[in-house]
Amino acid sequence: MFPLENRPGLISLLAGKPNAETFPITSLQFTMRDPAAGEDVKMELTPDELQHGLQYTPTNGLPELREWVFGLQEFQHNRYKGEGWTVSVGAGSQDLIFKAASALLNPGDAVLVEAPAYAGTIAILGLVGCEHIEVETDTHGIQSSSLRSILENWPKSKSKPKVLYTVPYGCNPAGTTATLDRRLEVLKLSREHDFLIFEDDPYYNLYFGPPNRPPSYFALERSQSEVGRVVRFDSFSKILSSGIRVGFASGPESILQAMDQHSTVTNLQPSSLGQALALKVVKAWGYEGFASHTANVAAFYRAKRDVFEAAMQRHLAGLAEWATPEAGMFFWYVFKLLGGDDDSASLIRTKALEHGVLALPGTVFYPNGRTTAFVRASFSTLSPEQVDEALRRLREVILDERKT
Ligand code: PMP
Repeated sequence: MFPLENRPGLISLLAGKPNAETFPITSLQFTMRDPAAGEDVKMELTPDELQHGLQYTPTNGLPELREWVFGLQEFQHNRYKGEGWTVSVGAGSQDLIFKAASALLNPGDAVLVEAPAYAGTIAILGLVGCEHIEVETDTHGIQSSSLRSILENWPKSKSKPKVLYTVPYGCNPAGTTATLDRRLEVLKLSREHDFLIFEDDPYYNLYFGPPNRPPSYFALERSQSEVGRVVRFDSFSKILSSGIRVGFASGPESILQAMDQHSTVTNLQPSSLGQALALKVVKAWGYEGFASHTANVAAFYRAKRDVFEAAMQRHLAGLAEWATPEAGMFFWYVFKLLGGDDDSASLIRTKALEHGVLALPGTVFYPNGRTTAFVRASFSTLSPEQVDEALRRLREVILDERKT
């Protein structure tokens, strides 16, 4: 009944909202980088914006922020409001992926998961009690041949998977951006074998590869005039603030409504203040300004990637192998002295730690206990000097290990 409260002239005795006049925060000012002007500008929430930011909001998000997201999906993915899909805001995309999994999956359900996969989602699926079906990937993304073979050889006695989970841009951990061909094949298979695609895309705006980037699954399904298969997860975490905890899901209405019901009983809604702040910023920029900002962010990460790769060449050429990421913030590399499915964990946890350097052993990104010699290195926060020193230390680790 809550949306009815907005009806003009209606006097509502409905909501158990506290009276915001009693709240101690009476104004909110901040400065913001303006990508067009290249300088900081002073901002202040209007009394109305502040009131919305301090008060409960609808479960699926501040209406104005949801409108902005509809516009963004049109701007970036050619998806138009009113065509049978909707938007929900969550406390980061992690919150929404969890709610989507909880809404759609039952304990024992099989879920197709790219391997290696984002460990946060592996954990979600584990919590829901799903069986992880690993789908092989390579530097082009999900190996559609592997996916096809899994689906064509699916045991008759077992229910088919309802969902495939993938991170198509700058995959965490593998750094891969899926090619258009692979995306098209995966989408085709989703129709043939009737599963949904969870497109978890927090690195979409951190793309720094060649022009003619591949469209999202969300865009592709519409361009093929057959929608309703993709649930897309976006996040402000990598482009505005990760602490602000604002992400959004876009997809079929029935699915998002089920997710909203989950929010109603778990956290009621994501933070109003986080949403009000994010909205103030993106509204001030407009979509073109948002695009300039994200282009700046992507260029920043590209420079970081280049510094990291140059240091890899200096210190690890011949000792490790890697593919160059075109989006995101991760290098996924393998030490040559280890065999493909040796576990890198002991080397990292003992020798690397002794030498004062850490990275994430790749084994955590495989759900079913498979070990791997791969390691994930994040290049987002270190200075060039720190990168150089970290990789020099890793070189020592490998040379030491070779001696023993
Ligand atoms: N998906 C992926 C692939 C991620 O890398 C992350 C963050 N590490 C998330 C989801 C969660 O992001 P958020 O901060 O939006 O919850």
